[in-house]
Amino acid sequence: MGVAVVGLGNLSLTQILPGFGEAKHVKVTALVSGEREKGQAIASQYGVPEKNIYDYKNYDQLKDNPEVDFVYIVLPNSLHAEYTVRAAKAGKHVLCEKPMATSVKDAETMVSECQRAGKKLMIAYRMLYNSAHIEAIRMVREKQFGEVRFINAVNGQNDAPSGQWRQIKALAGGGSLPDVGIYFVNAFRYLTGEEPIEVTGQMTQPKNDPRFREIEDVSTFTLRFPSGVFATGSAGYSYHENRHLRIMAPDAWFGLDPAFSYDNLTMQIGRKAGKANSMEERRFSPKNQFAVEMDHFSERIRAGKEARTPGSEGVQDHRVLDAIYHAAAAGGVVKLPAVSQLDSTRGPAVEEEKSGSNGFPSGT
Ligand code: NDP
Repeated sequence: MGVAVVGLGNLSLTQILPGFGEAKHVKVTALVSGEREKGQAIASQYGVPEKNIYDYKNYDQLKDNPEVDFVYIVLPNSLHAEYTVRAAKAGKHVLCEKPMATSVKDAETMVSECQRAGKKLMIAYRMLYNSAHIEAIRMVREKQFGEVRFINAVNGQNDAPSGQWRQIKALAGGGSLPDVGIYFVNAFRYLTGEEPIEVTGQMTQPKNDPRFREIEDVSTFTLRFPSGVFATGSAGYSYHENRHLRIMAPDAWFGLDPAFSYDNLTMQIGRKAGKANSMEERRFSPKNQFAVEMDHFSERIRAGKEARTPGSEGVQDHRVLDAIYHAAAAGGVVKLPAVSQLDSTRGPAVEEEKSGSNGFPSGT
C-alpha cells in the first residue's frame, strides 16, 4: 500500500522513513511538508516523485492521488485531529501518531469522522506490535507467575531543547504525561485488558525552568483496576533517560528494561531459587517497530478489520489522562465508569509469525 508521511520532523526522518526499508507491505509514495526544499530532498532520497510532494494547504488534493492508500500523521499533537479528519474526507485511511489528540472531544471527533467516511483509523502505539510486550501480555493473562498484584513503570527523558512545541500547551496538550506517560497508561491497560476505575495524580512544574512555563515536568499517578491490580507510573522531562516496566506477581516479578525504547528491549524475570533469588534475562529479535505497525495497518485495511489499536484505544487513553489531570488539580481520587469486558477498545490481537524476526525470545 502507498503511504503519505505527513510532517517531516525528527520521528519521520530518523525512524519512520528508514522503517519503510524493512516493511513488507507498504511503501512511501507521498510526502507532506511545510518546507518545500526539505520535501524535495527527502523525496529524492526515498524515490518519491516530485508530483507527490504536498504542503498543508493542498493536502486535501490527496483525494485525487490513487498512489496513496493511507496517511501517516507525524505532526505536533494538536494538529492530529484536523489532519485526520481532512484525510478521511479525502478518502484516505489514517495512521496517527500518539497521543492521538489533545482532548477527549477531538479524539472522539477523529473516530466519528473516519467512521462517517468509511475509513480505518489506527493509533501508532508501537509497543502493542512489539514481541517483548506481546510476550509480557501473554505472561500476565496466562498468570504464569500467579495473579498480578502490582505494576510499576517509569518513562522519562531530559533532552528536549527549550522552546520546542512540546513545551507549548496549545500544540502539545500537556507535558510529560501525554507525551511519554501515555506509553504506560496504555501498557497498564493492555497488560491487564481492564479499564481503571479509580485514578489519583500529582505533578511538578518547576517555576525556575523555562521549559515548564506551560506544561508539567514530572507526573506521577496511580490506577486501580476492577480485579484489584494496582499500577503506578511516573513520566518526566527533567531526569536522565529511564524507561522501565515491572510487573509483580506472587511467584516472580518480571518486566522490561528498557521497555519503551525503539531497540534492545530486554525482559528480566526475578524469582526464588532455593534460598536465593535468581534473575533471568531474555532478549528479543530486533525488528523495526514502525515497519511492523505500518505492515499491520495495511493488512487490516486489506482484510476490512480493525487494527489492534484503533481510534477507540486512543480515546480511552485520553479519558484516563483527563482523569489524572483532574486528580492532580483537585487532589483525591477520580472515579471512572467500570467496564466489564476485557480489551473493549482494541481490535483483534496481532498474529505472531511462527518463527524468526517478529516473534519469540531469541534466548535467555
Ligand atoms: P518534530 O518537531 O521533530 O516534527 C514535527 C513536524 O511537524 C515538523 O518538522 C514539521 O514538519 C511539522 N509541523 C507542522 N506544523 C508544525 C508546527 N506548528 N510546529 C512544529 N512542527 C510543525 O516532532 P516529532 O517528530 O518528535 O513528533 C511528531 C509526532 O510524533 C508527535 O505527535 C509525537 O508525539 C509523535 N512521536 C511518537 C514517537 C513514537 O515513538 N511513537 C516518538 C516521537 C514522536 P515539516 O517541516 O515537514 O512541515
